[in-house]
Amino acid sequence: MAEPGRLAPDLEDLEKLIDDLAAGKRRMHELPSNLSAAEAARVRREALERMRGVSLERTGDFSLDAARAASRHCENFIGATQVPVGVIGPLSVRGHFVSPEEDVYVPLATTEGALIASANRGCRAIRESGGAVVRVEDVGMTRAPVFRSGGIDETREFLSWIERNEERIREITESTSNHLRLRDIRPQVFGSSIYLRFRFLTGDAMGMNMATVACDRVIRDLIEPETGLPCLALSGNFCVDKKPSAVNFLEGRGKRVWAEVGLASEVLDRCLKTTAQDLVEVQYRKNLLGSIAAGAMGFNAHFANILAAFFVATGQDVAQVVEGSMGVTTIEARGADGVVASVYMPDLPLGAVGGGTALDTQAEALALLGIELDASEPGAAVTRLAEILGATVLAGELSLLAAFTSSDLARAHEQLGRGPISGDGSA
Ligand code: NAP
Repeated sequence: MAEPGRLAPDLEDLEKLIDDLAAGKRRMHELPSNLSAAEAARVRREALERMRGVSLERTGDFSLDAARAASRHCENFIGATQVPVGVIGPLSVRGHFVSPEEDVYVPLATTEGALIASANRGCRAIRESGGAVVRVEDVGMTRAPVFRSGGIDETREFLSWIERNEERIREITESTSNHLRLRDIRPQVFGSSIYLRFRFLTGDAMGMNMATVACDRVIRDLIEPETGLPCLALSGNFCVDKKPSAVNFLEGRGKRVWAEVGLASEVLDRCLKTTAQDLVEVQYRKNLLGSIAAGAMGFNAHFANILAAFFVATGQDVAQVVEGSMGVTTIEARGADGVVASVYMPDLPLGAVGGGTALDTQAEALALLGIELDASEPGAAVTRLAEILGATVLAGELSLLAAFTSSDLARAHEQLGRGPISGDGSA
């Protein structure tokens, strides 16, 4: 089907295009613009099928809006990979934008059998303990271009110019978006390299494109012309995007999230089949000492598992799981055989709008979580998302750590990840 305003190509034209692609006479991105996104995807698939002798039938069987996906999210679009989505809940969250009376159901997209069952068990333990308290700080999205100077004196002059011109820099960066606000600029210098770590508040969006566009504009229109120092790369790796890093661990990036819950001994026993003493010990030997032995930047059991499943389901940038997986889990003995468990996540780039959040199934997942933009309260929607994610990660930590104490980990994976294919939906 041609998109509105376009003439549908006839079958012969499509056949010719497939032949040309398969013969290497055209490249995958060189299809005529009168093809709809779905037609172009079909042409590419069929050419690949001929070239490689494989079937891409299932890849072509998708429900998402091909025009949106191909124009905003994915070049050389050929179809969609489906990742199973399960749900955990109800989860009880005591946040500023989620009340403990709400029953929150959290969609998680994963191929790891046992992950959802495990996180669901953690949810129950949290719910039966009155809910997880979650607090979120909007640290801001960072982008750090790198400049080259002629030496120490030129560097000092440049940094003094940046300080004196902060208001002009603010005016230009903020003019690129209705929602972006400059918080600060933190310099770092090595030899003749100068890094400016710009930090922006970006409303309900994760903000990486917004921050990049804002930096580009101010560098081209103001900083380079007036200082004469060239910008060598718009991202100088001191941002730090999609890499684990000490600067993000210490200063935070995106959202910084704390979540905690107190669990009494009956809940530990009934929901998690563990005891306070066992949980505290496994936390100490595994998450703390084991992580020290590994030189890890994440003193946690598996933040990445929950983050990846949540990010895929809700249209976040999945590569940012790399930085999001840094953080600390604590389990402290409290009262008569109880514990207080917490997670600290310093670096969570999250968006309730923008990026992949508008794709069909991802938008449904956000709706299921009750995420709605509110123009009168910028940032409320993404803070709610972060609060739910904080409690979900805590649920995942509790359940996995408990599984180690009762030697349930391998058993659960064997039963749920390798069990028979039942087809009755009861798993
Ligand atoms: P974006 O989709 O590029 O921008 C967000 C858009 O949402 C803006 O146009 C903004 O409009 C609009 N918006 C509407 N309501 C908003 C609200 N309440 N709060 C904030 N914005 C609102 O997304 P982004 O968050 O800046 O960047 C995310 C994307 O960047 C992802 O696709 C990610 O994969 C990609 N990414 C890019 C880079 C890079 O270097 N460029 C690096 C990593 C990831 P206004 O601007 O008019 O306010």
